[in-house]
Amino acid sequence: MNLSKSDYILGNFCSKALWLKKNKSELLPDYDNAQAESGYQVQNLAHQLFPDGVIVDAEPWEISQGAKLTESLAKKHDVLFEAVARLPWGAFCRTDVLRKNGAGWDLIEIKSTTSLKDEHVDDLAFQYFVFSNAGYKIKNCFILHLNKRYVRRKKLDVKKLFVMENITPEVLAKYDEVAEASARLFDLQKSKVEPQIFVDKNCLDCDFLPYCGKNIPEYSILNVFRADTIERVYQKNQSYDLSKLCAEDYSGKNYIDIQSWQEKSEYCDKKQIQEFLKQLVYPLYYLDYETIMPAIPMFENSSPYQQIPFQFSLHVQKTPGGDLQHVSFLHKEKSDPRRSLAETLVQSCGKKGSVIVYNEMFEKTRNAELAKLFPDLSRDILNINNRVVDQLPVFRNRALYHYSQHSSASIKKVLPAFTDLDYSELEVKNGEEAMTRYLAFLNGELSLEEEKILFYGLEKYCGQDTYAMVLLMKVLYEKAA
Ligand code: SF4
Repeated sequence: MNLSKSDYILGNFCSKALWLKKNKSELLPDYDNAQAESGYQVQNLAHQLFPDGVIVDAEPWEISQGAKLTESLAKKHDVLFEAVARLPWGAFCRTDVLRKNGAGWDLIEIKSTTSLKDEHVDDLAFQYFVFSNAGYKIKNCFILHLNKRYVRRKKLDVKKLFVMENITPEVLAKYDEVAEASARLFDLQKSKVEPQIFVDKNCLDCDFLPYCGKNIPEYSILNVFRADTIERVYQKNQSYDLSKLCAEDYSGKNYIDIQSWQEKSEYCDKKQIQEFLKQLVYPLYYLDYETIMPAIPMFENSSPYQQIPFQFSLHVQKTPGGDLQHVSFLHKEKSDPRRSLAETLVQSCGKKGSVIVYNEMFEKTRNAELAKLFPDLSRDILNINNRVVDQLPVFRNRALYHYSQHSSASIKKVLPAFTDLDYSELEVKNGEEAMTRYLAFLNGELSLEEEKILFYGLEKYCGQDTYAMVLLMKVLYEKAA
């Protein structure tokens, strides 16, 4: 049995997750191709920084062959991509770039993030442990990640797109820890006994949750409580089940969530809703954006992972409960959507009246970015920001809450809780799907027919988000009456 770098990282996250990967691999879901694709693009670009690089051409499962090939290529070349090292007892890893440095070598790990993360240190610490014990004299360890301050001009400047951080001291400080943990995890994965681990908030992001949490209700204390209190709540009640808790033992939102769930009821704070409604100035403009955030900037004047709005929906209502006008903008060309979006937005939003959004941070930040980019439209765009009223806090603060929301204030949960509408029938069902498919359109991966279907789906989806806010506003008026 081997211990790869990803095994080591997984085992550090949760020893049971590593054990399940090795002993019950059928529980793992399919790999996320979209995320992997973005990682490959970043890696390929980063390789341009090392024009003399030679790839160690071995399949992922050809570990010993890869290690031997690395040894032989290292005698002739100064830069190797995908270099492999393996220790006799089974620990092995690949490094993105192995670069000659005098009589030794540097390890360079390419990451598609825009900053250094704690897990990057663990990643390189494991690589350092394996490569140095395999006989490579490692001098420095670097993380090469995207530069969040980089602003693309006409042409992409790969040198400025990346930042190299030397983390050698942090890596060296972890040496003993890696030596101990890798030996322990290597033995653990061979054990016949499945580790017992308490299912906690961390588990919500784990692929094995359906297995480990098979006896935990779909909606449980994991959804209601903060990470640092879950174990205490569990110990007190000896259960994840909310129906076993005494609601009066808890306060604030926790109390509301538990009480509503146990009674299958809704909670309404009329005063808070009335206060919210008092701020509104008609006409109301219900606004929602869809954005893409490419890792590698696609357009001039954009940065890695910058959110680029390509679509908005706007429902306009002149009087409470009055008729609606709908403005839909969707950029249907393979070019920077921001100028035409900003112009249409300014023309459609008038000068007065509240602009209703769901999570103001998102729309306000997009508007501030557009205002900075287009100084001639800046006054009008910032005027829109000054008129923003956020609907989210009404639901997040539990001024109105329905037990079926399961402690979530996402509009996807709130809408079906109070109206007959939901998102299940839509062609495009969420913002992530809108983003992925629009990027596929921009990259020329769709046929004309697929483009038509996508545009139709996007207009329906974004339109529903603003129509949802209109319906929820009607609900708020009814509850406040
Ligand atoms: S669900 Fe939790 S306990 Fe189970 S493997 Fe994942 S992190 Fe570990």
